[in-house]
Amino acid sequence: MIYLIILNKVVIGCLTQLVGQEGVDMIKNMPDGEVTDEKISEITGSEIQIVRRTLYILYENRLAIYRRERNKESGWLTYLWKVDLHDIYLVLEVEMRKLSFNLQKRLDFERNNVFYICEDGNRFLFDLAAEENFVCPDCEKSLIYQDNGQLINALENRLEKMQAVLEEYV
Ligand SMILES: [Zn+2]
Repeated sequence: MIYLIILNKVVIGCLTQLVGQEGVDMIKNMPDGEVTDEKISEITGSEIQIVRRTLYILYENRLAIYRRERNKESGWLTYLWKVDLHDIYLVLEVEMRKLSFNLQKRLDFERNNVFYICEDGNRFLFDLAAEENFVCPDCEKSLIYQDNGQLINALENRLEKMQAVLEEYV
């Protein structure tokens, strides 16, 4: 379907966060044009609750719109849905900015602190380790200095990649 064309890996990841795998499966098989939730369920094979939940989340994120139509004979209202993923990049941008902000905070924390670690992997800031006389309060094994250079590199790499993506899309 049409949506598959613009759904790259990053977008799929973002969508999965929003609507889950079941929602993504539904979106991938969505028919074009305006349709009712029942029709979507019928065509995509997704359960009606999943369809409604997914449409609602998409609507909340401005990725779907609906139009109400009143049946002249029965007076019933019909909701006609249309999924429009054009704004997915806005959603994506907000998510990535949040993520990169948190990564930067973590990176600063790693850069500005000295860590001690025990054999079991419990990690302490220098001050706390000193307070405990460099003995782990859990396992009572000694705390040794941890070189977090590799972790810092990994965080830097992730941040760089994320910023590259942000620059590309914004
Ligand atoms: Zn320990």
